[in-house]
Amino acid sequence: MVQSVANYVEDFMSALESKNPGEHEFHQAVREVLESVAPYLLESPHLMKAKIMERMVEPERVIMFRVPWLDDKGEVQVNRGFRVQMNSAIGPYKGGLRFHASVNLSIMKFLAFEQTFKNALTTLPMGGAKGGSDFNPRGKSDGEVMRFCQSFMTELQRHIGQDTDVPAGDIGVGGREIGYLFGQYKRIRDEWTGTLTGKSLYWGGSLMRPEATGYGACYFAEAMLATRGEKFYGKTVCISGSGNVAQYAAQKAMRLGAKVVTLSDSDGFVYDADGLTEEKLEYVFFLKNVLRGRIREYAEKYPSAQYFPHERPWRIACDIAMPCATQNEIEAIDAQHLLDGGCQCVCEGANMPTTPEAISLFYKARILYSPGKASNAGGVATSGLEMTQNSIRQSWTAEEVDAHLRRIMADIHAACIKYGTEGDGYINYVRGANIAGFIKVANAMLEQGIC
Ligand code: NDP
Repeated sequence: MVQSVANYVEDFMSALESKNPGEHEFHQAVREVLESVAPYLLESPHLMKAKIMERMVEPERVIMFRVPWLDDKGEVQVNRGFRVQMNSAIGPYKGGLRFHASVNLSIMKFLAFEQTFKNALTTLPMGGAKGGSDFNPRGKSDGEVMRFCQSFMTELQRHIGQDTDVPAGDIGVGGREIGYLFGQYKRIRDEWTGTLTGKSLYWGGSLMRPEATGYGACYFAEAMLATRGEKFYGKTVCISGSGNVAQYAAQKAMRLGAKVVTLSDSDGFVYDADGLTEEKLEYVFFLKNVLRGRIREYAEKYPSAQYFPHERPWRIACDIAMPCATQNEIEAIDAQHLLDGGCQCVCEGANMPTTPEAISLFYKARILYSPGKASNAGGVATSGLEMTQNSIRQSWTAEEVDAHLRRIMADIHAACIKYGTEGDGYINYVRGANIAGFIKVANAMLEQGIC
C-alpha cells in the first residue's frame, strides 16, 4: 500500500509537471494535497474512475489579459492581469486579487488550488479562484493606482459577478484598491452588488473583515495550543510581514497576553525585545496603511528595536511563529533556527509560507504546525459573511461577525483533528485540512456529473 501510494503520487506529479512546465509553486501545492489524499483516493475506486484529482488540478477557466494604463508622466505602462477560476463545485468562485511584481501564472494557480480546499473548510458555499497582476503598487501615486485598477477591472468585470465570481484583496490589494476596483465595476455594469468583498464600511463592507485573517489565525493557534494545555498568555511570538494579516495577528496575539517581538517586510525585519504595545502597533498601522512606509522606520522610532536588512525573523527565539508575509518564507534553515530557539507552534497566516523541507522538520520534531489553508481561512470566511450581509441587505455587529468567525475557526480545527490525528495522538494538521477539504469538493463534483 505504502509503495503504491508513493508510485501513484510520483506518476501523477510527473504527468502534471510535464503538462504544466515551470509552474513550481503550483507543483508544490498539488504535491502537498496529493500526498495527504492519495491513500484515501486509492481506496475509493469511484473517485479514481471519475478522475476527480485529474479534474481538480485543471482550472475550470484561466483568464489572462493586458492591462494598459498611463503613469503620472503620461507614459504608457503595460501589465498582465490574471483570474484563475479553479473550481466552482461548491459555490461561486471566491478568492483574492494579488498585485505584486512576482505574480505569474504558477503563483495564481497555486493560490487558486489552495483556495478551493480552504473555502471548502469554511463550510460556506464558495468555490476557489485567485487573480491579480504583476503590477507593483509600491511607490505609485494614488492616481496611478486608481488608473491601473480601472483598467484592470475594465476587463475583469466581464468574468465576475455576485453569483459567478467574487474577488477580494490579497498582497498589494487593500481597502484603497478594492474601492477603485468596485467603482469601475459599478460604472461599467450599472449594478450595485456585493461582487467584491473587503469593501469599506461606508458602502457594504463587513465589520471585522480587516481583522478576520489575523484574528482567525490566532483563534486557530489558540485551539492548537489548547490541545497541549497551553495558551498565548506569556508566550513570545515572532510574526513576519507587516501588512493586513500581520497587523491583526499581532494585535490579537498581544490582546491574548503574548509578547510579539518581530515584524518584517520584503526589505528586512525588526526585532523589538521589549515587545510591541498597543501604541507601537498603532504606529505600524499608520506607517504601513497611511504613510505606506517601510518597517525599518519602526526601529528608527523605537530605540528598543533593531532592524536587520535582507533577513527574515526566524532566528529570533520564540514559542510561536506566525508567518504572515508570503509563500516559501520559511525554508529548512529557518525551520531549524525556529526549532533551536524553542518554537512549539507554527501557525500560518500567509499562503504556503513553509517549504516542504521545513514542514517535514516540524513534523519530525512533533511541534504544532498548521497550514494556511486551515489557519488563515478566517479571512475568506468573513468575506463569505460579507456576501451574506450584502444579499440580505443587513449589517451585523462586530460581536456577531466575531462569533461566526470563532465558530468557523473552531469547526476547521475540529475537522483537522477528525481527519489528521495519527496513531500516536499527534495531530497532522496538513493531512487533516487536505482530506477534509478534498472530501467535500470531491463529493460535490461527483454528484454534479462529468463537468
Ligand atoms: P499585504 O500586502 O497587506 O502585506 C504583505 C506583507 O508581506 C507586507 O509586509 C509585504 O512587504 C510582505 N511581503 C510581500 N511579499 C514579500 C516577499 N516576497 N518577501 C518578504 N515579504 C514580503 O498582504 P496581506 O497581509 O493581505 O497578505 C499576506 C499573506 O497572507 C499572503 O500570503 C496572502 O496570500 C495571505 N492571506 C491574506 C488574506 C487576507 O485576508 N488579506 C487571507 C488569507 C491569506 P512589502 O511591503 O515589502 O511588500
